[in-house]
Amino acid sequence: MAAERAIAACAVRSTSVTVAQELSVRTMTLPFTRAQLEEIVAKYPTPFYIYDERGIKENAQRLKGAFRNVYAFKEYFAVKALPNPFILRVLKDEGFGADCSSLPELLLAEEVGIVGEEIMFTSNDTPAEEFVKARELGAIINLDDISHIPFLQKFAGVPELICFRYNPGPLKQGNTIIGKPEEAKYGFTRQQLFEGYKMARELGARRFGLHTMVASNELDYRYFVETAAILFDLAVDIQRELGIRLEFINIGGGIGIPYRPEQEEVSYEKIAAGIAAAYESKIVQNGLAPIKLFMECGRAITGPHGFLVSRVRHVKHTYKDYVGLDACMANLMRPAMYGAYHHITVLGKEGRPCDHQYDVTGSLCENNDKFAIDRMLPEVEVGDLLVIHESGAHGHAMGFQYNGKLRSAELLLRENGEVLKIRRPETPADYFATLDFEALSQFGD
Ligand SMILES: *Cc1c(COP(=O)(O)O)cnc(C)c1O
Repeated sequence: MAAERAIAACAVRSTSVTVAQELSVRTMTLPFTRAQLEEIVAKYPTPFYIYDERGIKENAQRLKGAFRNVYAFKEYFAVKALPNPFILRVLKDEGFGADCSSLPELLLAEEVGIVGEEIMFTSNDTPAEEFVKARELGAIINLDDISHIPFLQKFAGVPELICFRYNPGPLKQGNTIIGKPEEAKYGFTRQQLFEGYKMARELGARRFGLHTMVASNELDYRYFVETAAILFDLAVDIQRELGIRLEFINIGGGIGIPYRPEQEEVSYEKIAAGIAAAYESKIVQNGLAPIKLFMECGRAITGPHGFLVSRVRHVKHTYKDYVGLDACMANLMRPAMYGAYHHITVLGKEGRPCDHQYDVTGSLCENNDKFAIDRMLPEVEVGDLLVIHESGAHGHAMGFQYNGKLRSAELLLRENGEVLKIRRPETPADYFATLDFEALSQFGD
């Protein structure tokens, strides 16, 4: 992978501008001023994603700081949230590993020098060649199913260190926070877990981990404490029944972010304090310490520090008022796919009253290609720049090419204010790259 480096001439300062628009409950901030963004836009045509390096680093440091008293805490960034090697490099420098779930994600981790037990390979319905690659890299392999133990043995061999993904299923009353894991495709049942550890031990495994991940975008810190507590209890039972002492427990990702101004951030400190207390009463008291604690968050790490910048191409007044952008759901599909809210700032109009109601659309021939429906904004004009907030995770990564819509560039706003192009925009040649027009010319004659 030839890393494309294009350092922008325009050095911008990353001072913050406060944007309290729509609802003044929480102020939504941008890491750049209007003037800075206009300089960036003059060089890089919209639409594009821009990620705030300082924001990502400070966030990573806050997470590590909160968990400093949790034994051997480590975060494995979920690569699928923002699979860009420059971002992975920034996170590697903060000591984060990578949580991968496909061959290309493993290759990406390898490319940035994240190898060995810095990789957690949490996949499902896994092809043999991915296990082979994960083994070659020395990744921690986290199996999704008991049948994958003989499968792994056959194609890649069972490694010394192995981890299993637990699906808690219909839990006892009071654990309603977790939702409905019994309807999720992932993981081992409790009984399979005990069978699985025995089976893996017979095949040569000597070091063991336990994992679960059953929620996403969760804003209640208690959920994570409860998840850890369930796994701590399980660790005690595993030790008692099998004589196996777990080396680590991975409580997965899923920390949510406040997409809406009226929502509040999850406190890393509260999660860490709750987990530390549960660790003391369950792990330490039962003589099982030390057990390392891992997480694999994606959204919470980069989500708040990425912005999709798009220009207004058309404004249309029919039965409703529409703002048509040069970005579309191929660039950010969360609103269309989940009805997700993403805050929108009309650059330079932050102080104006939000007295106009719009559907903010893209150009895809699908009526659900909307970034917002009935959104109150200041009056929008053709040429305005719109910034779509909290799109730094599961944003560009979920992009697609349906309808011949191409994925945008990705930029990194460096700590020193420089702007680095970390992915170029796609061109029609990318769209056609898998076609063979030469074969076409001989076809059907
Ligand atoms: C998607 C995923 C994550 C990351 O989820 P976030 O909601 O982005 O934190 C972590 N682990 C696994 C196994 C996942 O599938």
